[in-house]
Amino acid sequence: MNQNAESQTDLSNVLVAASIRADQWRQLNATARQWATQGNGKLRDACAGLLAHVQRIEHCWAYPGERLLGAVREALEDGDAPLFARLVQKVSSAILSGDYRRDEQAWDITEAPDRAVLDALPPDITGTQDKPYFEVLVVTPSDPGQWLRAKDEMRRMRRPDDAFQYAVVHVGSFEDAALAVMVNTDLQAVILVDGFSYNSRHDIPDLKEFLGRHLTIDKDEIKPGTLATSLAAQIREYRPELDLYLLSDRSPELLAGSDEAAPMRRVFHHVEEPMEIHLAILDGIKDRYETPYFDNLKKYALRPIGTFHALPIARGKSIFGSNWIRDMGHFYGTNILFAESSATTGGLDSLLEPTGTIKRAQEAVARAFGAKRAYLGTNGTSTSNKIVVQAICKPGDIVIVDRNCHKSHHYGFVLSGAQPYYVEAFPLTQYSMYGAVPLRTIKQALLDCAAGGKLDRVKVIDLTNCTFDGHMYNPRRVMEECLAIKPDLTFLWDEAWFGFARFNPLHRRRSAMGAAAALTKRYRSKAYREEYEAWKAKRGDRDLTDPASLDEHGLPDPDKVRIRVYQTNSTHKSMSAFRQGSMMLVWDDDFHQVEGPFEEAFFAHTSTSPNLQLIASLDLARRQMELEGYALTMRMTDLALKIRSAINKHPLISKYFRVATPEDMIPAEYRESGLKDYGPPNSSWGAAADAWSGDEFALDPTRLTLICGAAGFDGTQFKGLLAERFDIQINKTSRNSILVQTNINNTHSDAALLIKALADLSREIESRLSQEGAVGQQVFADRVKSLMTDVPDLPNFSRFHDSFRDDPKGVANEGHMRPAFFMAYEEANCEFVKLGSEEVDKRLRDGPEMVSANFVIPYPPGFPIMVPGQVITADTIAFMRKLDVKEIHGYHAAVGIKLIKPSVLAGRRASSTQ
Ligand SMILES: *Cc1c(COP(=O)(O)O)cnc(C)c1O
Repeated sequence: MNQNAESQTDLSNVLVAASIRADQWRQLNATARQWATQGNGKLRDACAGLLAHVQRIEHCWAYPGERLLGAVREALEDGDAPLFARLVQKVSSAILSGDYRRDEQAWDITEAPDRAVLDALPPDITGTQDKPYFEVLVVTPSDPGQWLRAKDEMRRMRRPDDAFQYAVVHVGSFEDAALAVMVNTDLQAVILVDGFSYNSRHDIPDLKEFLGRHLTIDKDEIKPGTLATSLAAQIREYRPELDLYLLSDRSPELLAGSDEAAPMRRVFHHVEEPMEIHLAILDGIKDRYETPYFDNLKKYALRPIGTFHALPIARGKSIFGSNWIRDMGHFYGTNILFAESSATTGGLDSLLEPTGTIKRAQEAVARAFGAKRAYLGTNGTSTSNKIVVQAICKPGDIVIVDRNCHKSHHYGFVLSGAQPYYVEAFPLTQYSMYGAVPLRTIKQALLDCAAGGKLDRVKVIDLTNCTFDGHMYNPRRVMEECLAIKPDLTFLWDEAWFGFARFNPLHRRRSAMGAAAALTKRYRSKAYREEYEAWKAKRGDRDLTDPASLDEHGLPDPDKVRIRVYQTNSTHKSMSAFRQGSMMLVWDDDFHQVEGPFEEAFFAHTSTSPNLQLIASLDLARRQMELEGYALTMRMTDLALKIRSAINKHPLISKYFRVATPEDMIPAEYRESGLKDYGPPNSSWGAAADAWSGDEFALDPTRLTLICGAAGFDGTQFKGLLAERFDIQINKTSRNSILVQTNINNTHSDAALLIKALADLSREIESRLSQEGAVGQQVFADRVKSLMTDVPDLPNFSRFHDSFRDDPKGVANEGHMRPAFFMAYEEANCEFVKLGSEEVDKRLRDGPEMVSANFVIPYPPGFPIMVPGQVITADTIAFMRKLDVKEIHGYHAAVGIKLIKPSVLAGRRASSTQ
């Protein structure tokens, strides 16, 4: 047990410290109970060992704190097993349940009745039960002997009408502060008191190495006198949501205007009123807690209002007065009806022209998600994508786009008249899915356009990050290398699944807005200018569009480069928003050029009756993430890692099921770090963090591709089975896998439910196979083979028909998709061929070419295997024929594949290119 505990507290796992910590206290609790009942010396030693481990980084949290810990230690030293057990039990259950946030008893040490000295102290928590609780970190040079007194002093500031309550954690150094910020997810504010030191005062052997991996500054780089500001900058990078305060003896007037103070919310003079600091801390939380739209909607719902507008259900009048639909009111409750209105008065604001609470809600979203601007969307990212595409593209513009992008992008091109240049993701044929588009492929497309003399028409690069299956791009690297070729490119990152990524530093480094911030900082630095000049001097004048430069990591010209990044996210997919709640985030140095078109596109697609509850839920989702996003996203990541290892290491389950690892999902050439899997023994979190910083692609661990083909199930069948027998719902399937994802709502019990289901099924397969004879076993083996090995090749995008290309002989593959799309509106222009017919084979062989009249999108996998105007090749037909899914949008088996007639195509070619 001891050894196990030791390997677990290794700092490489510290990012999941909160859950490890709870486990350790639980272990200590069990051992303490044994000691108390059996009373032997070995158990006492075991308790001492476990307590020593627990205490290693316990100074990062306010609870249980030095008083309670001191009492625990003392009980151990006195050999008072019953007292020790009672105290440990108390702390352990408060940590597990979170009771220390609500219940002042949890902080009380009167469990120690004969320690009168201790129990005279006031409890650490006062006030009402439901006041939100948080912790404040104080980094201070003061003597640790003073800290208890300082805590008591802070506590005296409390007033009954404070909206929130907090407890204080003291540390004395840069290192201890950095560690506390990482592991203590309850922290919301940090007070930096000038004059603290660098080195930890705790003996944690692996701390330096660990911090080295997670901080972006070395001790030697810190100039004398800038320790506080350096720490502030590091905290900003790690957890940008935290409020920072500086307490200094230096002249606050001078300090306040300096760069040093820039990351600080407030600067205080040392001798200033503690009450001021207390109020500032609460005010900082209030800024994040405030949900301008939701708060107003609640007020609105309570006001007596007579409505004469068009929305009979508003205030429930048409429902509670009804003889027939009163159950609607009972089911949904009154609030949702009182909060319905079609008015834009009374502070409800207008989504189409926000000036009040919606405007403020959007500004808060921009702040929270690290964007320059934000727009709220109420028709899902499906519509958000169309808005952004239409805002940043016009007819004739070329968009380099992953063909596997969600269909909203493709429809966006039809609407805007932009010409897609389809690029291919690397295939994962064995799982019948695609990965993501290699940077080299994207650069090749840019070079092809340059070769055709149309680089100036390439406006946008449009990619999905992360993909459904968890492939995360390295947006910094993609944007940097593309901007080196064309410095004014705009990027649209569809982060439908990935909105949460902002809220922890691991995922954030792979997010669009995280990259926009990092690149902006980089290109503005003096160091970058030097790097750029040196690079230019070394390579000479060769153009980056020269084919010989394809594999060169180009650097953008700092005088020309523009950061133009758009992100869309389905807030409802990864955060607490109602379905269809979506956001559009903007970081565009040239937004002044886009603002008008953006408004037009927003008007074109947004309902004039947007749903108020949706807007309110977006406001709330933002509040939640800004206050607990770090804790929640860390927990979901931890849970995913636990599920991964529980399945893949389970002796029975792993015979039939397996979660695909980074090694399975990303070819080695895109995984330069060589990282094969998450978690011991393969890698520590530090190694994973390194891989996420550098590798071309990384796998989001929270998206688990569970391969079920070896158990004889195809994805659809397995999905059904999990739902029917085990009440487990999942979303996506492939031929031989299902996608399980952990989210901010998942708990350990959910994980246990899944693992239990897999264990049950594995046992069933095992016993069935053992009862069946050779024939049965052969049937099973054949089924597995058909699912796992006889998989169809994935068809690449072939090309647009010549009549939809400006330059049929060129290598660039962009085409006019819109005219093809609208040709299909005339029945006379179209014909049908049956998929299984002889005619299909004949035309593949002898022509004339078959040209798709519309999008054909099978679910799964959900990407368009045909787009309007695309030439249909043998690959596509072979894939369609093997496809055994029921849902294929744009294709009806009874009539066949819809084609544009060859005669119509010939006519178009003769007449025009538009
Ligand atoms: C789900 C999804 C969309 C569409 O978002 P909705 O909010 O469902 O409209 C767009 N792009 C990707 C990559 C998606 O996964």
